[in-house]
Amino acid sequence: MSKLLIVGTVAFDAIETPFGKTDKILGGAGTYIGLSAAQFNVDSAVVSVVGDDFPQKYLDLLTNNNINIEGIEIVEGGKTFFWSGRYHNDLNTRDTLDTQLNVLADFQPIVPSAYKDANIVMLGNLHPLVQLSVLEQIENPKLVVLDTMNFWMDNTWEDLLKVIKKVDVITINDEEARQLSGEHSLVKAARKIYELGPDYVVIKKGEHGALLFHQEEIFFAPALPLEEVFDPTGAGDTFAGGFAGYLAKTNDISFENMKNAIIYGSNLASFCVEKFGTERMQELSATDVQGRLEEFKKLTQFEIEIT
Ligand code: AMP
Repeated sequence: MSKLLIVGTVAFDAIETPFGKTDKILGGAGTYIGLSAAQFNVDSAVVSVVGDDFPQKYLDLLTNNNINIEGIEIVEGGKTFFWSGRYHNDLNTRDTLDTQLNVLADFQPIVPSAYKDANIVMLGNLHPLVQLSVLEQIENPKLVVLDTMNFWMDNTWEDLLKVIKKVDVITINDEEARQLSGEHSLVKAARKIYELGPDYVVIKKGEHGALLFHQEEIFFAPALPLEEVFDPTGAGDTFAGGFAGYLAKTNDISFENMKNAIIYGSNLASFCVEKFGTERMQELSATDVQGRLEEFKKLTQFEIEIT
């Protein structure tokens, strides 16, 4: 079976949406990616760092989802990464209110020896030098996927370019693609991003779906139109976890199979947003996921004769 190595924040989040507000709850890119990829029953591990303020029950939650946590360092006397954000009424845009790196500031990641031969590496949102260090510890990965965000573009541009150069796939949102490339058109942006390193560019557009670019080809996956969106936090990471998890499970990294991977990514992200934080992902069943795949098919398939 393929092995999936994930790196990303394991965090406390405080979230405000038009529907409510939370105190510190479980969050972090690594957490969302791990929970999403867990749907595929692949052999996965998360590399991250937390402080000793991080509850054991959250670590147990990851373990109970068959995620190896040997690579999550617990820093005695340290404080866990904290992020707080407030969503606008459209739920597609948000303001970051606070980012406290805490233990992340001095993090030196160690990949557990059993995962140094991982075939798929998912570099979740985190300091680019940490992403790079993880990548350097993996012997011969078949596919490396990178997710990042504007925070790292604003603060660690040069380091980010170093890691982008080494990855096969990058997943970012539309605003970030524009920031990274300096191009407004997403088609032009994708082309510029190829020049930075990746052969595949995935651009997430929130409730408007996601685009997959490879050479001259483009594939589009919609987001499922949902009756209620409660909290979009983690949707991008859940998407990335679904994408990487599906590729790990099928062990096929062709463009054709990546199309299915982004459908799975969109599918899983559609659940994530239905409740606050990781709540919905924790209770998700395989039947839920299969049911929604049917909905995706109905939404996008049509018969038309091209004469
Ligand atoms: P998403 O909504 O997919 O962009 O992911 C939100 C998650 O990313 C939250 O759970 C945060 O803990 C985490 N996060 C926020 N800012 C950062 C950052 N600068 N680096 C890494 N993770 C972050």
